[in-house]
Amino acid sequence: MKEFTGLVFKMDTKENYKALLKEFSDYIILDQIESLINWDFETYMPPEGVMQRSKQLSMIAALIHEKITNPKVGELLKKIKEDLESLGEIEKRNIFLIERKYNQKVKIPIELAGELAKQKAISTQTWKKAKKEKNYALFKPEFDKLLELSKKKANYIDPNKEPFDVLMDEFEPNMTSIMVTRIFDELKKGLIPIIKKCTNSPNQPDSSLLKRNCPIDMQRKISEDISQLVNYDLERGRIDETEHPFTTGYYDDVRITTHYFENDFSDSFYTVLHEAGHALYEQNLSREYMYQPIGWFSSYGIHESQSRFIENIIGRSREFWEFYKPKFDEITQGKFSDIDLDSLIHVVNEVKPSKIRITADEVTYGLHIIIRFEIERDLLAGKITTEELPEVWNAKYKDYLGVVIEDDAEGVMQDTHWPSGLFGYFPSYALGNCYGAQMLAKMVEDIPNFKELVRNGDLKPIINWMTEKVHKASNLYDPPDLIKRITGEEINVKYFIQYLEEKYSKIYGL
Ligand code: ZN
Repeated sequence: MKEFTGLVFKMDTKENYKALLKEFSDYIILDQIESLINWDFETYMPPEGVMQRSKQLSMIAALIHEKITNPKVGELLKKIKEDLESLGEIEKRNIFLIERKYNQKVKIPIELAGELAKQKAISTQTWKKAKKEKNYALFKPEFDKLLELSKKKANYIDPNKEPFDVLMDEFEPNMTSIMVTRIFDELKKGLIPIIKKCTNSPNQPDSSLLKRNCPIDMQRKISEDISQLVNYDLERGRIDETEHPFTTGYYDDVRITTHYFENDFSDSFYTVLHEAGHALYEQNLSREYMYQPIGWFSSYGIHESQSRFIENIIGRSREFWEFYKPKFDEITQGKFSDIDLDSLIHVVNEVKPSKIRITADEVTYGLHIIIRFEIERDLLAGKITTEELPEVWNAKYKDYLGVVIEDDAEGVMQDTHWPSGLFGYFPSYALGNCYGAQMLAKMVEDIPNFKELVRNGDLKPIINWMTEKVHKASNLYDPPDLIKRITGEEINVKYFIQYLEEKYSKIYGL
């Protein structure tokens, strides 16, 4: 009798599990619809379509929210968790992921969610105006409100954790500000001397080389060529043009965008490689997990490791250009053919401390992120105030990068992240660099002829390695576990620093 009841119970759990996955797959489909109309909004929508589109977007956002916060999801989770041990490891991971997402959404009172959404819109709007007028005082009151609401949100999700950690959990699950502080302190210590050596070197690149005219039609051809070279599948993707480049979609419909500048081909060149790196991750997720929580990427940091691997580790390497320069000269009809390989490699790897994060080079980039992380961590912990923000920002830029910030538009109001309430997001960018170099060290053990493959333009074995280790793991593991599984150790900054030291001492002749 007992056994029989047990059996019935188990059947129920399986049924409940199936019902829960069905709810989640609906949620994913809605999410994909939202991504697609967002993509259209950024690419081809006629300007007058804005009002219609905003209605569509707000309805789809409400449907998505309803789907994941549906009480049915809570009930199913509760029932399944009473008999969790009857499920396998993969099923347990799915349950864990749904519960995490559910908690992140359902614990926030609906009024707070509404207030937050409204305040995000207001502070973004105010930020645009304040940035234009270089007037931080205009932005500050709205930013204060947004910050308070974000802290409140974090407190609802988990009152026992630091607000920063709760908010970062959405982007870099299972990382804490203590861990990031330790990682970034070490990163900072490694980066600063490399930057000093490069900037003090008498051997500087000729940046005018990149400013030569390169017609957009030629650049479009290059985009198609290099994206295919790195194995981005254009039968399941496409390249369009937007103000700010991005990647969207997953599995069989993964689209990237770029922005062409006639007088700097390298901008779009590296944007396309970057976004193609993101796209590879999405196209190569494990197909059997599609529409399940595990059929997703692990974190924003892991995503960034993939884009930066393709953009920087492959695309800015000497071996890459040894292979690609003849093809490049052919497409650009000799416009750059007088530039020798050394000069070209030097100029696409120029190390130059600057005020602006998004145009920063591979070496200084990390410091831009560290500055933001340190400030945001202390801001959310109440250790600094929004009043002190510009002063703290400028002091850190002077201190870490040796750069003098002249006004708050190029300083504290530079990025869209804070005005739009994206707190806890910044660390992912720099963690991506560290993850990528650590993966490279392991990859080279497995593929000793790595450089030769790049030199021959044969990237397939390299991408296959990434697919097996990273893409196919999809969302089976949070980043700390994934890195350990792939490389045999926890995140370790030394690989990125070693990679930079080796690469830049050659380029700068240090
Ligand atoms: Zn990216």
